Amino acid sequence: MKKIYVVGIGPGGAEYMTPQARHAIEESDAVVGYTVYVDLVKDLCEGKIVESTAMKQEVDRCKIVLQHALEGRTVAFVCSGDAGVYGMAGVMCEVAEDHPEVEIITVPGITAACSGAAVLGAPLIHDFAVISLSDLLTPWETIVKRLEAAGEADFVICLYNPKSKKRRDYVDQAAEIVSRFRPWDTPCGYVKNIGREGEKGTICTLQELMDNDDIDMFTTVFIGNSSTRVINGRLVTPRGYHV
Ligand code: SAH
Repeated sequence: MKKIYVVGIGPGGAEYMTPQARHAIEESDAVVGYTVYVDLVKDLCEGKIVESTAMKQEVDRCKIVLQHALEGRTVAFVCSGDAGVYGMAGVMCEVAEDHPEVEIITVPGITAACSGAAVLGAPLIHDFAVISLSDLLTPWETIVKRLEAAGEADFVICLYNPKSKKRRDYVDQAAEIVSRFRPWDTPCGYVKNIGREGEKGTICTLQELMDNDDIDMFTTVFIGNSSTRVINGRLVTPRGYHV
């Protein structure tokens, strides 16, 4: 019986991919994933079966992967960033639950929180919370509760899935919730297209996250905590060293 690698390829091109991820793809007979991610690794796919699928067919994609494995192939199931952070590693295990004979190996990658933080400076040096604003699978009330809790506990907050066509004002709502606990001039930032063409990092205030048309679904947002500041154009959360 063959293996399924659920591979986090990092945020962008080849230079963000770990050697472990590259080896997993090279070793595989088939590569499956969302079209954009399969495209990012196409140079490694020569001579392999390649299947790319549209965005909102996650479970179907897992079933395709499982089928390849049951037919005796080693499969690389590629995800952006880390495969275990809003990635496919979990749902793949669920879909393959009745097939314990299939080995599932999660290959970690650089998640957008880390690669985006590196673009801005060092905003995640202290405790931080990662919250997805997508309410496709999580009720909005739950997201609000987590934003409130993270705001109150003074976590630096990193927002994934900040916006989509249907969710234009969710970042505004998130900023408003956090503003109950932090001043509107709290240093924040956002990074678009990390590691890809058009990468752009912006440092701003909590206020400037409101009504911000620059933020889209390919953006990761960072909200500083009470000690985050801007040092020489870098967004930095001091950890408390005496300097
Ligand atoms: N598994 C991925 C996250 C998938 S959720 C990871 O670990 O990074 C998708 C969200 O992640 C996007 O809406 C965006 O907020 C963030 N994201 C993923 N890749 C990104 C990139 N290259 N640039 C900016 N944000 C990114």
